[in-house]
Amino acid sequence: MKIQSILQVLEAVAPPQYQEAYDNAGLITGDAQAEARGAVLCLDATEEVIDEAIALNYNMVIAHHPIVFKALKRFTGKNYVERVIIKAIKHDIAIYAAHTNLDNVLHQGVNTRIAARIGLSDMRILAPKQVWKKLRTQVALPFRNPIEEALVEIPGIQVHWAAPSDEIQILEVAFHQARESAVRQAIQTALPPSTLLEIFALESPATEVGAGLIGLLPHPVAEEDFLRQLKESMQAGVIRHTPLLGKPVRKVALCGGAGGFLLPQAIAQGADIFITGDYKYHEFFDADGRILIADIGHFESEQFTIELFYEILSEKFPNFALHCTKVYTNPVRYLY
Ligand SMILES: [Zn+2]
Repeated sequence: MKIQSILQVLEAVAPPQYQEAYDNAGLITGDAQAEARGAVLCLDATEEVIDEAIALNYNMVIAHHPIVFKALKRFTGKNYVERVIIKAIKHDIAIYAAHTNLDNVLHQGVNTRIAARIGLSDMRILAPKQVWKKLRTQVALPFRNPIEEALVEIPGIQVHWAAPSDEIQILEVAFHQARESAVRQAIQTALPPSTLLEIFALESPATEVGAGLIGLLPHPVAEEDFLRQLKESMQAGVIRHTPLLGKPVRKVALCGGAGGFLLPQAIAQGADIFITGDYKYHEFFDADGRILIADIGHFESEQFTIELFYEILSEKFPNFALHCTKVYTNPVRYLY
């Protein structure tokens, strides 16, 4: 089986186009056409994790965080990122990351996994993403047929033609953003290169794609009890939280990793608590008596993503060698 087949299964759950613009999810090193011998599953593709893959004679490392974020200009091994890349390439190891694209899906996403551990129901995306777009352009009548023929090849799009005059046709195509390049290409190959294509986001947001998640506990729980349960269910070394508000917790908003940017949505949607990681001192003030903020740690919030990778892949490929890393890659430790 090729590496590509493994990646296709991951990408059916978390399509790469759902990643945020700043992200670098996808295949970072390696050849997707190579035979896959086995995969180590992890949050962070550190040097020790690459060593683990080498020791097992596996040639894939599937991580949540992309080891490379910014462009690299030199490969001298002066920092851990360069050393990981050098080692992976030397040993023909494919490093793949499913990052914000895996955060942004409602089914089998990073946040879904957290919600399941906490016991939430009625889950929905906290900040749905705009994923439907519309393209509009004017074309001369002779181009209509070739464009129609090209567009008919693309599934799941809506094509609308209007004809203000005999010569000019107005074409509108609504499509999921995943199809944007296919739609663009189909139209551009049929039209003169100077043709202006207007593309804009459609108003109705997708309800199953976006950042964070909000859901309900089966019954209201006193704040301190909830925080203690949370610490246990998420195996958090410590929880940093804002002052208790003296009211029970029922509606829970959460986001794995550094999700502080979602606080306004959590408040607007009436969440009693917002759970995430990586909060800074001054950002805790933003709770302002309106919500309880709980920072459970970045690693802690996402650690069960490793199990998630395992479930997604083992269900599809029961005989493929998968290994959940034994390396504790959290760079943060606690002194109790
Ligand atoms: Zn993260």
